[in-house]
Amino acid sequence: MFLIHGHYKFLPKRSAVRNVWCTVCKQPRLAIGVRSLLVIHLFWIPVLPVARVTDWVCASCRNNPKAHLTARPSAMRWPLVLAGILLVAGLWVLLETIRTGEDPLGVKDKRMSGGIAGGLALLMVGTLFGWQVRRQLRRTAELGFDDGKAAVAPLSGDTCPLCGELMLTRDNPRCESCQVDIQTR
Ligand SMILES: [Zn+2]
Ligand SMILES: [Zn+2]
Repeated sequence: MFLIHGHYKFLPKRSAVRNVWCTVCKQPRLAIGVRSLLVIHLFWIPVLPVARVTDWVCASCRNNPKAHLTARPSAMRWPLVLAGILLVAGLWVLLETIRTGEDPLGVKDKRMSGGIAGGLALLMVGTLFGWQVRRQLRRTAELGFDDGKAAVAPLSGDTCPLCGELMLTRDNPRCESCQVDIQTR
């Protein structure tokens, strides 16, 4: 049976503000959280309210701050593993060469110098590769792919960034006139 289903978002309401890295502006920006009710629909008939969800929009460009996300740190896991394997292989070749006095990689020519050169080459490639991955990881963190925690200063919570009103409490500050929670993390 051909079933058309999907979801609607009902009653969108501004609910929170926080500082994030906007991947569209490429700047730290104020983001506004819009909370709405997620409702599943079947053949466009709403059937089941599921959850309240918060969508963040950049206060400057009105886009999702993560719209231009290009790389995630988790994507670097396999390159890091590969660099580790190269390093271990290089060490193994070196140790085997020293232990046996022969090049464990050499098929016909088992001279010791060949084994040492091979082991060092593997270690060097592994180190360079690992360094590259690390650099990419650090850049990724700087650009705030980890939710901006690394580079973006959080809101202080002293005043409401929308209306400028002074906040009275430091814990869980909330602007009652704007109806927003001011997220300081
Ligand atoms: Zn933006
Ligand atoms: Zn306010």
